[in-house]
Amino acid sequence: MNTGQINQHTFHAVVPAAGNGSRMGSATPKQYLPLLGRPVLRHTLDHLLSVPSLAAVWVVLSPDDVDWNRFDWPVDARLRVLRLGGASRAASVANALAAISGETSAATWVLVHDAVRACVDPADVENLIATLADDPVGGILAAPLADTLKRADSETRVAQTIPREGLWLAQTPQMFRLGMLQQALAAAPDVTDEAGAIEALDLKPRLVPGKSSNFKLTYPEDLALAARILSGEFERKQA
Ligand code: C5P
Repeated sequence: MNTGQINQHTFHAVVPAAGNGSRMGSATPKQYLPLLGRPVLRHTLDHLLSVPSLAAVWVVLSPDDVDWNRFDWPVDARLRVLRLGGASRAASVANALAAISGETSAATWVLVHDAVRACVDPADVENLIATLADDPVGGILAAPLADTLKRADSETRVAQTIPREGLWLAQTPQMFRLGMLQQALAAAPDVTDEAGAIEALDLKPRLVPGKSSNFKLTYPEDLALAARILSGEFERKQA
């Protein structure tokens, strides 16, 4: 059932998809590369739209986007398209928040999710929402670091080992109230994620455990890994 609400709270997803993905080494932006026969972004949107408590899923495209219209997208009134991506991810998100603020209140929870985290598990998004719905700050999906971290010197030799205790990898969705997030991004426009902007307000986002499979497709080999993860998911669902 699509209620779009829990305990009077409203939840909207915002999917910044206005990057060009230069590290992927492809002329086509990585959110449109084929993954199991569909664009990466289609998997991401299907997963978010299967979360019933999301009242809307706003996808943020570059004003110059020439790829969106080449594909079929889910037929769901909750899917909304904004062609107002900015020069950075933070600018794309800030532009989207300004656009949707006319349709909802400052107290609305916004879940910002990378277009290229196509393997996000809807159950983890539901858990994030349930965990944070009454939280005063908000928070993010994240995974405790499994590997030991090394800092490299200029000759690619180990300069330092960084203890992994207490270290987490930040993922998305990152869930904050619309008004607070707008204020945070206006004050800290150079952040690489929403939590960074909230932290700059001296607030402490909560870390909600997610799966390592919710990774950000960045390099060409990531597509094969995502295909294996999603194929396993489909096999499980058919079994
Ligand atoms: O480049 P990066 O991997 O950090 O991008 C993360 C997400 O932010 C991607 O979904 C990308 O499309 C989006 N993005 C954006 N506008 C930009 C740059 C990145 O919406 N100017």
